[in-house]
Amino acid sequence: MFESLSDRLSGIFDKLTGRGALSENDVNEAMREIRRALIEADVALPVVRSFTDKVRNRAVGAEVVKSITPGQMVVKIVHDQLVEMLGGDSVGGGIDLNAPAPVAIMMVGLQGSGKTTTTSKIARRLTQRDKRKVLMASLDTRRPAAQEQLKVLGEQNGVDTLPIIEGQGPVEIAKRAMTAARLGGYDVVMLDTAGRIHIDEPLMVEMAEVKAAANPHEILLVADALTGQDAVNLAQSFDERVGITGIALTRMDGDGRGGAALSMQAVTGKPVKLIGTGEKSDALEDFYPKRIADRILG
Ligand code: GDP
Repeated sequence: MFESLSDRLSGIFDKLTGRGALSENDVNEAMREIRRALIEADVALPVVRSFTDKVRNRAVGAEVVKSITPGQMVVKIVHDQLVEMLGGDSVGGGIDLNAPAPVAIMMVGLQGSGKTTTTSKIARRLTQRDKRKVLMASLDTRRPAAQEQLKVLGEQNGVDTLPIIEGQGPVEIAKRAMTAARLGGYDVVMLDTAGRIHIDEPLMVEMAEVKAAANPHEILLVADALTGQDAVNLAQSFDERVGITGIALTRMDGDGRGGAALSMQAVTGKPVKLIGTGEKSDALEDFYPKRIADRILG
């Protein structure tokens, strides 16, 4: 589908016969290709700019090791920089449960991003793999049948859901969920909040209120890996207004190259912790920076 960046850079540098340090001209030409590859991989423009600046600084004057070509050298610098910005050698780390029970995990994001599905996937993993007692609650009182959807997923995956009481608002439900979890001896409470088509003020106010009511230990932004250029605004807004602790990136099974992972981490400094790789309940994986760097590079 795409010509890989490695191939393109090798093409540029093939005409260079000399070895030694990379000159500013060599690097500038490579930078154009790198910029194009990142944009094709759906990395947001401001992040593309800061990324290429960092790579340029590392590359100009860098000594080309004898055993590799200048093209390979630049590809290595780009790869290393990508991995660093995606979290280095660490794995996304999954969910942090290191707090007194019941630990609240608040899931936030836009409508259709995969919030409910991801809530249920995480709850299933915590229940089955980590042997935690998990209670899920849907705080989405806007979308018809949202609460019912979570209940059905809970039944399918052997995870309890908070009984639905018609007429309650998100904050009331959050408080009820915390009380029920305390009384019921649950380890974890997953709060699946309502989304909107776009970020708006009422959504941010609602998220802040729910946060104040439940005092969550984790606030995970669920974002669609295919959102590309919009990912930066999304992550920035949620982080500034609500304060996220991490990101769950859905639809990584799609055709996208995963540039949103780089964009969102670059602007928030918060890690992508998990990725969704399908519609099924078990399609949830840890985030490996190296794998995503390879995917972005193509
Ligand atoms: P919400 O409105 O944010 O709660 O979104 P939903 O959880 O209802 O998900 C919207 C759609 O995206 C559903 O059809 C899900 O099955 C689908 N979905 C969620 N996560 C993934 C994923 O990682 N991969 C794929 N292919 N589909 C997903």
